[in-house]
Amino acid sequence: MSNASLLLLLAVVLPPRTLDVLGPVVEECTVETRYGSVGPLALRRSTEGADVWIQPYSGLPSRTDPRATLLAAKMLGARRVLNWDAGVAVNPLLRRGQPAVVIDYIDFTRHQPQTFFESEGIRSVKQDPPVCTQMTTALFDTIDIAGGGVYLGVDGPRRETVAEARMFRQWGVDMIGQNIVPEITLAAELELCYAGLVTMEHLSADQQDGPRQGALRAGLESVVRALPSFVQALTEPVTCGCGDRLNAARRRGLLAEDWWK
Ligand SMILES: [Zn+2]
Repeated sequence: MSNASLLLLLAVVLPPRTLDVLGPVVEECTVETRYGSVGPLALRRSTEGADVWIQPYSGLPSRTDPRATLLAAKMLGARRVLNWDAGVAVNPLLRRGQPAVVIDYIDFTRHQPQTFFESEGIRSVKQDPPVCTQMTTALFDTIDIAGGGVYLGVDGPRRETVAEARMFRQWGVDMIGQNIVPEITLAAELELCYAGLVTMEHLSADQQDGPRQGALRAGLESVVRALPSFVQALTEPVTCGCGDRLNAARRRGLLAEDWWK
């Protein structure tokens, strides 16, 4: 059995064998959760012994209940989740292929299950900080990125209209995607560390789009090259507070230690 602490949810499309930089696949498994089955997940192990679970991920409306994926991470014993998404750049400083780190988010989704707490009497789960500070710092330290930004989560598959793109920019949105919300809030409810990385696949509808394939491929490759350093950086001891978001609820007797089982 693995001691992998990290699950990588891959919502970008990569050429075959690209992830060999993280080491060979040493295990595969499917996890049955009360929200559906998740898998097959692949466990990769680097020569330094750093393990990471990998799960291809799609925000299509037809996907599995997003609660299943986060619960599977918890059941596997992974305490950190990195979601690598392909997004739409709203901020004109972001170009096709550039990666950016999610530092905050706006929830514009309407159709997806948003909570594990349908009957537990939990009335508020704080979103401050909205992402894991330790994982986000590791992303900035190891990946050559355009910067950090505000992510707007939408349902899809339809793209934003020109009018919406202008409105989102006025809201302070830097990028739009379909895979990081509500996963980010569900991870908080499970007290998992969560970070989001977005590679810009398109420019928003109100912007002139530039050259197509080359820039995107180069941007994806730059992240892949840095992933081993990122995984290795997370073998450091935990310094963030993501693991005790629900302590107040436990003190009030609303939640058992293992309520999620
Ligand atoms: Zn954390």
